[in-house]
Amino acid sequence: MSGVRLHLLRVGACRHLACMAARGDAWSVIDFPALCGLIHHPSRGWLLYDTGYASHFMDATASWPERLYRTVLPVHLPPSEVLATQLAALGLSASDVSHLVLSHFHGDHVAGLKDFPAAALYALGADVEQIQGMAGHRWRAAAAGMLPGLLPADFGQRLTRVDTLSRRALPGWMAPLAEGFDLFGDGSVLGVPLPGHSAGQLGLFLPDVDGRPVLLAGDACWSLPALREGRLPAWPTLAVTHDRRRYRETFEGLRRLVNREPALSLLPSHCTPAWEAYRDGR
Ligand SMILES: [Zn+2]
Repeated sequence: MSGVRLHLLRVGACRHLACMAARGDAWSVIDFPALCGLIHHPSRGWLLYDTGYASHFMDATASWPERLYRTVLPVHLPPSEVLATQLAALGLSASDVSHLVLSHFHGDHVAGLKDFPAAALYALGADVEQIQGMAGHRWRAAAAGMLPGLLPADFGQRLTRVDTLSRRALPGWMAPLAEGFDLFGDGSVLGVPLPGHSAGQLGLFLPDVDGRPVLLAGDACWSLPALREGRLPAWPTLAVTHDRRRYRETFEGLRRLVNREPALSLLPSHCTPAWEAYRDGR
């Protein structure tokens, strides 16, 4: 047993048509929760995978063109879901989170970055370059769901590009995913690129969480039931995908993996059924 533990936290949600995330789903508006993984490592302490929404998101989207983002995807963050409140309920504060892994730089994944001023930051170089390339292009950035103002001033100093870390082979049964970047050098937390949704997009493979393997999959898919059935997002969603060909390749690889390996808990960042099934031990 690795001793790694995982808490899934819902940190706000946006509302959008279900059918945009998965073809064949209803033409009705549903919540897409912003789920974060709070991971405890026995010697490295607390690691957070993404931050979900935060008050900084409202500030960063208060005026145009950034307001476009929250106009298209209306956000709500009830007080009980604020990340600091949920950490406090676990007896933690922001300073207890020493590692913050960013799946990619869409605003709903990084809005709380400034609330963790002491955490070491981890992201894929391709994603860092993608958001840094948006500097000075406010409309383009807003249309792509990126808000460079959410990054803290010392972002570069605290950042480790995960793709510079040592590589480790994944278990053969994880094919077509073959290798990951070893965050702590002990194989317990492995960064796995799941490209297409963004330039890099970093998933996290935890081989052993209370005896079961978990893949935190970011936005490689939005709905686990739809992934199992091979139902891609609708075309307007694919139209704003960074690289549609690579997205389809990643999606198809995960579809085969999740249908072949029922012991694996694959957890997309915005899928309520996957979250509930994991919480309930199914
Ligand atoms: Zn995203």
